[in-house]
Amino acid sequence: MTQVAEAIASGALPGRLWMYSNYHCNLACSYCLTESAPKVAKRELPAELLLSLAREAKELGFTSVGITGGEPFLLPHLPDTIERLAEILPVIVLTNGTLFTKERLQRVQRFAGKPVALQISLDSPDAVVNDTMRGPHNFRKVIEAIPALVERGVQVRIATTMEEMDESDMVRLCALHRELGVPDEDHIVRPIVRRGRAVDSAMGVEAQAADLPPELTISADGAFWSPFGPTVHSGALDTDLLVSRTTSPLQRPAGILLRLVQGRPPGEDSKLGIK
Ligand code: SF4
Repeated sequence: MTQVAEAIASGALPGRLWMYSNYHCNLACSYCLTESAPKVAKRELPAELLLSLAREAKELGFTSVGITGGEPFLLPHLPDTIERLAEILPVIVLTNGTLFTKERLQRVQRFAGKPVALQISLDSPDAVVNDTMRGPHNFRKVIEAIPALVERGVQVRIATTMEEMDESDMVRLCALHRELGVPDEDHIVRPIVRRGRAVDSAMGVEAQAADLPPELTISADGAFWSPFGPTVHSGALDTDLLVSRTTSPLQRPAGILLRLVQGRPPGEDSKLGIK
């Protein structure tokens, strides 16, 4: 057993390797961690690199991979790549859920019955509130896409990112996700983290390494402590949570992360419940 596998088995390291497939996005949400938008630098990880990182991750003892961005489904190869990744390790893909045209629905239908979950953002039961944060027509597109995916047998999780929500709105949101076919265990709620665009509007919570689970995250710029690490502010990459510029072989950043985790004083653990 590798040291990484032992740390994962003991719970010292989370088992998921995150990979930023790209940084561009068809949206430009007001709290976006990565200042993503249609015209930003793409900072892509090519398909073959995503696959080879997943193979290395499996050898090291990681138990799943996560794909995030940017909007991963802007990459034409993505459905094929996810299918190939799922042959290596279970995959979760974070998506804004607005690109599921008939053609793309057909392409992702093959995820049914495979270890693939799509995590779609939905921030409010009210279209106006949701779209104020995420852009025009976002709510309509998302509530159309979710049941279309569920009907095709694709596993969908809903992620709600919010500053605050009163109880009655949360009750309505939960009723909505159930109506869309997503059970309670597949609905996650998390705070806005004050990085990226959220810094400019002073939204969300400040999070340090101790607040964030140490989930090894690879982007085109290096290896980071968490998927909340390789964020962008004022067009520049944040490096406070950079673990290593070297990402290959994966064993190197994994080993550095492990040493950092083992060096943390006992009792210092995530406080904000950020997932
Ligand atoms: S929060 Fe997600 S959907 Fe919104 S701009 Fe950023 S990457 Fe795109």
